[in-house]
Amino acid sequence: MTRWTVLGSAHSVAAPHAANTHFLLVTSRRVVLIDCPGPMFPRLLTMGVDPKGVTDLVLTHFHPDHVSGLVLFLQNLWLAGREETLHIYGLADTLERAQRLLSLFQWERWTRTYEVVFHPVEGGHLEPLWQAPDVHLYGVQICHSIPTLGLRFVFPESGRVLAYSADTAPCEPVEELARGADWLFHEATGAFAHHTSAAQAGELARRAGVRHLFLVHTPPDLDARRRLEAEARQTFQGPVAAAWDGLTLVWEP
Ligand SMILES: [Zn+2]
Repeated sequence: MTRWTVLGSAHSVAAPHAANTHFLLVTSRRVVLIDCPGPMFPRLLTMGVDPKGVTDLVLTHFHPDHVSGLVLFLQNLWLAGREETLHIYGLADTLERAQRLLSLFQWERWTRTYEVVFHPVEGGHLEPLWQAPDVHLYGVQICHSIPTLGLRFVFPESGRVLAYSADTAPCEPVEELARGADWLFHEATGAFAHHTSAAQAGELARRAGVRHLFLVHTPPDLDARRRLEAEARQTFQGPVAAAWDGLTLVWEP
């Protein structure tokens, strides 16, 4: 069984019912965290997931609402006695900053019980981060104010495809990673520089032939979310929803 959970759905100013946007993917072989904005142990335990079981962490970009829980997560894994290697993926810029941040906390001196392997991604074109039997993950640099990685998950056993825009303005690489996806999780921060409005997300989903569109990185306010859904429906004919914290997609295998 494969499970995709929205751990957080909000833009950079979160609320009690809506954390900053981040996700969890669980397959038969992997537990993948996509971004790490806050204290991850309580978040994962609330969802019934053992934080020590996270196999991979993908960081989309180095903005605080996406990565500020990183140091605490790695420290907690150590103090909880993790032993398995943790794999961290991201653009070179993101991983370099992440390691500088860890160095400020002198993590070289931690008597860590586990290894961390950083996997820098070039991102100039849609390239594989990994290709395992359960999931192939592709990433490409999209169009934000700093280097940012958009993601396309392909599940070979079921033929399903799930894409996540990360933070971005509408641009060709986003359309490329979303092409033919069963589910597109697209940011809908608004028509600001380096971001996307709900109408633009709908337009991109339509052009890319997406089946279901979920809006993320949205205001926590529920009325605002209803307005964004209505806005996206003007440009996209398929099912649209503003994602909420805890929203989970489950499919076989
Ligand atoms: Zn951002």
